[in-house]
Amino acid sequence: MATDTAAPSAPEPGYVRPEVDVPALKALLDGRYAEVRDLVRTNLVDYASILEEAEELSVDDYRERVREILVEMAATGQTGMGFPEEYGGGGDLGASIAAFETLAYGDLSVLVKAGVQFGLFGGAILQLGTERHHEAYLSDLIAGRLMGCFAMTETGHGSNVQALGTVATYDASTQEFVVTTTREDAVKDYIGNAAKHADVAVVFAQLEVGGESQGVHAFVVPIRDGGEPCPGVHLEDDGRKMGLNGVDNGRIRFEGVRVPRTALLNRFADVTPEGVYESSIENPNRRFFTMLGTLVQGRVCVGGGGINAAKVALAIATRYAVRRRQFEATSKDQEELLLDYGLHQRRLLPLIARTYALHFAQEAVALQLHDIFSGTQAPGEEDDQRRRELESRAAGTKALGTWHATRTIQECREACGGAGYLSVNRFAALKADTDVFTTFEGDNHVLMQLVAKGLLTDYASDFEDLDQLGTVRFVTGLAVETVIEKTSVHKLLERVRDLLPGGDEWDQEAGLLDPDYQLAMLRFREEHMLGGVARRLKRGIDQGMNPGAVFSRVQDHVIAAANAHVERLVLEAFVAKTRELDDGDLKVALNLLCDLFALSTIEADRAWFMEHGRLTVPRSKAISREIGGLCRKIRPLAVDLVDAWAVPPEMLRSPDLVG
Ligand SMILES: Cc1cc2nc3c(=O)[nH]c(=O)nc-3n(C[C@H](O)[C@H](O)[C@H](O)COP(=O)(O)OP(=O)(O)OC[C@H]3O[C@@H](n4cnc5c(N)ncnc54)[C@H](O)[C@@H]3O)c2cc1C
Repeated sequence: MATDTAAPSAPEPGYVRPEVDVPALKALLDGRYAEVRDLVRTNLVDYASILEEAEELSVDDYRERVREILVEMAATGQTGMGFPEEYGGGGDLGASIAAFETLAYGDLSVLVKAGVQFGLFGGAILQLGTERHHEAYLSDLIAGRLMGCFAMTETGHGSNVQALGTVATYDASTQEFVVTTTREDAVKDYIGNAAKHADVAVVFAQLEVGGESQGVHAFVVPIRDGGEPCPGVHLEDDGRKMGLNGVDNGRIRFEGVRVPRTALLNRFADVTPEGVYESSIENPNRRFFTMLGTLVQGRVCVGGGGINAAKVALAIATRYAVRRRQFEATSKDQEELLLDYGLHQRRLLPLIARTYALHFAQEAVALQLHDIFSGTQAPGEEDDQRRRELESRAAGTKALGTWHATRTIQECREACGGAGYLSVNRFAALKADTDVFTTFEGDNHVLMQLVAKGLLTDYASDFEDLDQLGTVRFVTGLAVETVIEKTSVHKLLERVRDLLPGGDEWDQEAGLLDPDYQLAMLRFREEHMLGGVARRLKRGIDQGMNPGAVFSRVQDHVIAAANAHVERLVLEAFVAKTRELDDGDLKVALNLLCDLFALSTIEADRAWFMEHGRLTVPRSKAISREIGGLCRKIRPLAVDLVDAWAVPPEMLRSPDLVG
């Protein structure tokens, strides 16, 4: 520990700051996949020139360069870690997520192209296909010899996948499926790898057998041969995008394209040669959600990618803030460092704290995914509740992580002033490339509604069987009493009273820095909001309103409840992590960050807490004061805290900003 003398927004006299052991903190953050993350860091440095090339190359050349890098990285084993070893993979899903997250320190077109090729295309073959598909494709796609795409979204439908208009009709006479784009808005759109590089697509289409529709299924469809479109396949380039221009996104239209019966990815359903549809999952909705559920890894990866992109921005802005001086504030001899200003601390340090919090929440969801998917049972046979909780948690963490990236990158750009606007300082690419993370792999607002629906139905076993309207009816009708019962504020308060000394006055007496108090506040908000949503839904139904209309009216409330839930999970992950540490400076430092995250989360919603009687005016002011104090204590640690993320200096670029 060391006494600190920074000025003008310095810690109170006598404050003894903890020493941050950066390698020890890096080891803690990298966790069990430290080696994997270091391999990716090394690879990133080897290809550091891509950051500059991205600004100079034509779109065509940039795309080619990104492809080249991807194939070369594949040879290091970095991109195939989640695939079975017998096909040349690493056999470790958790490792593949760690690798992907770390790749987000570099050029994000490389990241997203890797996500498309190995996560989406490869993931669909692995998770939805069976041995014959694995044998046919995995080795080649893992090595980057076979490039593919994941063609789910259509111009007309992105979020509502069940409404897709591409149809695959079984022709028993030839034992083939005929894939057709049935209408103009059923063209596959925004598909990564489709404009240039993919030879094969995993196509999501409505399966029709014997004149009957069986819902959306996935098929392997060749789309290029020798660089030219296959017969009946029409390909178009989506053109220049806001960012990620190293990825070739495109449109695909199918005109009676014939593929063999074996092209159906048949892990969950199959069609016999004679044309009989068979599935072990009887209910079509349940089948559909089971299939989609196996693709949850993509969502987890994008969330982690967003969080790590935020780290890059914060590392640059923090380092700049301890070099850049503006105005004499405390003495005429020297201007002040930006990070010594209270305002600058207030802008950057809570974002660092939230990034740490999200890092640990992401670690928890990645671990959960690894454990569930590495089990020997097929996902369909597992504990359904655990799987649904994972999907909900993945959706929520993805939404919060990617929104955090967008917000953080903007704040950091501004915190670097005019210098932040120069492309060499990375923010231009970071902003443009991460923007769409809030949309792909599930639009964040749609995902947060899924989170809330899971909570409202308590992951009811038949929840997945319900279509959208059915879900609304379920939530608004049957389940509403249960929800209110479960989320009863009275019950919650009893729990909180048990937890904290001070009885009814718990919110007045408990120490602001007591994690039990902080958690109780976030739990109260979550459960109160959820109860409120349930009551409003019930009231609407009781008044005879259409269930869909009732749900629509309360959507803002639904999203707020989901946000409250996910923020509570994030805080729990952070508190759990700090509790497991041995006493010492590292624990002290992380506790400061955890307090800052918790209190700034409460502060951000203080109007709500005050409206609901959980925060008095003096208490609310005390929280703001405490946040200021925490920022002053963390300020001397800030550079160490961002250094522990170990973003390679070559990835920070910014020669004039970071030194
Ligand atoms: C760069 C890029 C790469 C992509 N790569 C791929 C790929 O490789 N493969 C692939 O299949 N797809 C890909 N996509 C598509 C992407 O997954 C979709 O864009 C995404 O799922 C959102 O769908 P949408 O664009 O139709 O938006 P919409 O679903 O139309 O949403 C538009 C807006 O409406 C809101 N909204 C939608 N439904 C509701 C509701 N019920 N209540 C309230 N609000 C609602 C949403 O929040 C959103 O703000 C990519 C997209 C982009 C931009």
